[in-house]
Amino acid sequence: MTSIRLSGIQKHYGPTRAVDGIDLVIEPGELFFLLGPSGCGKTTLLRMIAGFIDPTAGQIYFNDRDVTAAPPNRRNTGMVFQSYALWPHMTVAENVGYGLVLRKQPQLEREENIKQALEMVQMSGYGDRKPNELSGGQQQRVALARALVVKPEVLLLDEPLSNLDAKLRLDMRTEIRRICKASGITTVYVTHDQDEALSMADRIAVLKDGTVRQLGPPRSLYRNPETRFVAEFLGETNFFSAQVVSSKGDKVKLETSAGSLTAVSPTRTWPADAQVTCSIRPEAFQQVLKPGKSNVFSGMIAEQIFLGDQAQHLVEIGSEMVRTLHLNPGDEVDEGTVHLHVDPEDVVILSE
Ligand code: ADP
Repeated sequence: MTSIRLSGIQKHYGPTRAVDGIDLVIEPGELFFLLGPSGCGKTTLLRMIAGFIDPTAGQIYFNDRDVTAAPPNRRNTGMVFQSYALWPHMTVAENVGYGLVLRKQPQLEREENIKQALEMVQMSGYGDRKPNELSGGQQQRVALARALVVKPEVLLLDEPLSNLDAKLRLDMRTEIRRICKASGITTVYVTHDQDEALSMADRIAVLKDGTVRQLGPPRSLYRNPETRFVAEFLGETNFFSAQVVSSKGDKVKLETSAGSLTAVSPTRTWPADAQVTCSIRPEAFQQVLKPGKSNVFSGMIAEQIFLGDQAQHLVEIGSEMVRTLHLNPGDEVDEGTVHLHVDPEDVVILSE
């Protein structure tokens, strides 16, 4: 299995810093996500790993091998594109085997490898079809089989699900994760879809303006974002301006315009009087019967949005409008005063 190490990687196009100094180690066998909004540099970074784009500065290593100057065909990577890029005049088997023909693999060995790759993506029996006789999801599986058949050290996936409809996208998330983990190939996956990243990744690097803003496993990124940008990009949240009153151990007392709050800050200490922003996810609020001294906000429901499996409430608390989320909603809640409790562990103090 192969690790990927990026050291000081940059790519500049004139004044545009598409990638602006990235240091990363992707572990052997890891399913690693590059996540960020359009234009943050994720495709450029993926293409530099593939060898299609030369970096302006920095080095790329596969294990201890410096591949920075190696052409794509010397890197032993497999790539899956957003558009699948299957040859329409070739059968599924011919598409999958194309890379093996280029590698001059003998026919018997080639047929065995094609068979195994189609089994891996659960497309056995489709070898004689043409791409236009397949659904979008099946074409995507064939594109994956074509990338896997050459037994790459590294698999690179560029927004592979964005052309599929919503239901199929969900199914393929599980499928792609299963295939990557079964094959043990180190995989780098580019997407702007945070749900895709949260549900599939071992670790995620969140990118903005060509740099990594935060790196970690999905749960830790979602629960402990360090900045407004990461908190907002990974899901819905509420921001509160707050002043630090005091801190003791990892507990921080805060005063906000909506009331007093206790937060848990395990990794950083905050001086008294510091002005900070904290983030509380909508699902962290629980409705309670009585007002309380700390960590209970009292407000009025201004709007209820029914979404089937959940309902969102907009609650007016002082001058703040807070979004809350409730699973398995029944009838509409009576509009009046509500009291909302939040655990200190769910109050995250942001550093910017
Ligand atoms: P993403 O994949 O995150 O949407 P890209 O890596 O495609 O972002 O692009 C990052 C930035 O670099 C963008 O501002 C984009 O306009 C710019 N860029 C990408 N490729 C080129 C190019 N060939 N020439 C000039 N600018 C480019």
